[in-house]
Amino acid sequence: MKIGIVGAGQLGQMLALAGIPLGLEFLFLDRSAATPAGRIAPVLTGEFTDPALLAELAERCEVLSFDWENISVPALRAATRARRTRIAPPLSALATCQDRWAEKRLFARLGIATTRCAPVDTRAGLGRAVARIGLPGMLKTRRLGYDGKGQHLLRAPADLDRAWQRLGGVPLLFEEFIPFDYEVSVIGARGRDGAVVLYPLNWNYHVDGILRLTRSPWQAPALARAAGTALRRVLRSFNYVGVLAIEFFVRRGRLIANEMAPRVHNSGHWTIEGSVTSQFENHVRALAGLPLGPTDARGHAAMINLIGSLPDTRSLLAEPGLHLHAYGKQPRAGRKLGHCTLIEATAARRDARTAQLLRRLAPQLPLRP
Ligand code: AMP
Repeated sequence: MKIGIVGAGQLGQMLALAGIPLGLEFLFLDRSAATPAGRIAPVLTGEFTDPALLAELAERCEVLSFDWENISVPALRAATRARRTRIAPPLSALATCQDRWAEKRLFARLGIATTRCAPVDTRAGLGRAVARIGLPGMLKTRRLGYDGKGQHLLRAPADLDRAWQRLGGVPLLFEEFIPFDYEVSVIGARGRDGAVVLYPLNWNYHVDGILRLTRSPWQAPALARAAGTALRRVLRSFNYVGVLAIEFFVRRGRLIANEMAPRVHNSGHWTIEGSVTSQFENHVRALAGLPLGPTDARGHAAMINLIGSLPDTRSLLAEPGLHLHAYGKQPRAGRKLGHCTLIEATAARRDARTAQLLRRLAPQLPLRP
């Protein structure tokens, strides 16, 4: 079976690396073939919305998917409908995840606690939203935001004009700032037959909106149960197929949903070595209509993102048990170039080694697990 994926980034690369041993084939669509997934599978090159290219992808593949959210739902719908090609995850989930306001309304409808927020389209509307919700708060673009891009923290009334100048002109969302204790995410997969598997809860640490470190399993049984319940509700509401992730703030022992992703997620990269079946393998199993695999952790994992520049491979691999994933991307400030994962027998041992590694890899991070 051939799987067509719109976007040939590192997520696509890791999906192909997981699917090829299962006998699956991959074809990607991206603006360039010099992309992470282009190192291991063919890429149709051109615009993501190009109807002819999407049609070719739908023609040549049994099922279509995507490795990032910022793609055109109508273009994908037209290409797959005309050829009756399956698409997973469902386009309804993709459309919801593309709009922060739609996402928040879904959480509210499903009884999942989320931030207090309001859509904002005008400068006057921003004033009204701030008056109702209060400061500090975050002004975010409703669409096309990722890794903290398109966000502005408003601390005082004097910040409103500057934030509006920076972000105004496109649909926005203003939401309360959550002084969270920490952040977690939950990842699960749903098969074509409706079977659901959940991974252990992830503890996540972001800097400037970009994930830096994940530790998993995070031992917080009540939170893990609540996160699992929320994820199952979202999966069921879309009749979902594939992997879905939800990110939460944790404040005073309670979860507050921030956002969700209709795909494999950076906070699940540790599952490649740290789980019986990785998130990538379960995603492609779901796309292909195959049975999902067990999600038990093989130990205590830490995943560190390698951002902006890659450390020396030789010295990284001299660390016993360290698994390196370099995506083959050109270095650039703030760019995710790779990640590395450690699996240890105990959480204490993992945290001690992670602290040591962070001192080497990211000495500027104010973080010592
Ligand atoms: P997002 O793009 O919404 O996932 O935001 C990226 C990161 O920015 C989050 O993981 C948080 O660390 C931070 N952040 C976003 N929204 C808020 C908020 N309302 N309150 C506090 N921190 C936030």
